[in-house]
Amino acid sequence: MSRKVSLIRGDGIGPEIVDATVSVIEALGVDLEWEEVRAGSGCFKDLGTPLPEETLLSIARNQCVLKGPLETPIGTGFRSINVAIRKHFDMYANVRPARLSPALTTRFSDTKVDIVVVRENTEGAYCGIEHVIPPNRSAAESIILVTRWACERIVRYAFDFARREGRSKVTLVHKANILKETNGLLLEVGQSIAREYDDIQFEDMIVDNACMQLVMRPENFDVIVTENLFGDILSDLTAGLIGGLGLTPGANIGEGASMFEAVHGTAPDIAGKGVANPTALMRAGGMMLGHLGYVDEAQLLEKAITATMANPENRTGDLGGKATTKQYTQALISAIQEG
Ligand code: ATP
Ligand code: MG
Repeated sequence: MSRKVSLIRGDGIGPEIVDATVSVIEALGVDLEWEEVRAGSGCFKDLGTPLPEETLLSIARNQCVLKGPLETPIGTGFRSINVAIRKHFDMYANVRPARLSPALTTRFSDTKVDIVVVRENTEGAYCGIEHVIPPNRSAAESIILVTRWACERIVRYAFDFARREGRSKVTLVHKANILKETNGLLLEVGQSIAREYDDIQFEDMIVDNACMQLVMRPENFDVIVTENLFGDILSDLTAGLIGGLGLTPGANIGEGASMFEAVHGTAPDIAGKGVANPTALMRAGGMMLGHLGYVDEAQLLEKAITATMANPENRTGDLGGKATTKQYTQALISAIQEG
């Protein structure tokens, strides 16, 4: 029996890169049944809600969703539909790998970049507990809420991930020298849990220093675990190290449902032109395949991506090439078929 997966095509370049990703997963011979559901801005226009109940029910049933980028319509009471889905299913670990492909020449090609950012996905400044102080918005206040429980859960996830993936080091990135309580709690929990994993090296690093070290010596990083806002920023930085947003996937892992998506947004500037790079979402599809137990297929996909990108003629505009989304996808499917 085929495994059912919820599928959200999304907004902007979403439909283009989702279609490309679905055709590639089908070319891998994985027997998935896609249950297409709606969310985002296009959905709001058609159905009057950006996140229909049916979508949440589908994800709850299938426990797995592949999602294109979503635009959050203004004035719907949602801060972000992406964040709303992550919150609804308590997808607490956002895993964003950035590995430099041998197929590409970037500024960092003469170094090794193979970094996974594990971002806490439920707390911190992203709670959005904010208000303005009258009169005339003369001040504004935001509450950063951090619980010991969530710190433990994300740090454990990072160490277990490192073990499972055969990685050797976890770097906890924080600003505990200034945010002594909120980031201090994360650091304290990290140092304590690290003692349980004596097979994995542990270090902590202040976020500003981490930004510099990531650019100067990216080869020194392996798994990074950090809080929500820093994780958002650092994972764009690591995406830049390996060639940009068109290449980097993200997984949102929960105890139950998990969601797989690209790190990038809806890219309105190139939407509808058929030129988007679908690799980030395809790699998210690869993470999903690994998560569902299709490990060989996930490896074959990554191998085919490397082989395809190695030829400059197959590269999309963000990588300096001229290929369309369809041309790249077709070349990738041929590479898969050649095995
Ligand atoms: P959002 O608010 O939806 O997150 P954003 O303003 O953060 O959007 P992105 O959509 O992430 O921006 O895009 C940032 C830049 O990267 C844009 O110039 C966009 O065209 C480019 N970009 C993003 N994704 C891709 C892709 N898959 N292929 C090519 N270019 C991309
Ligand atoms: Mg963005």
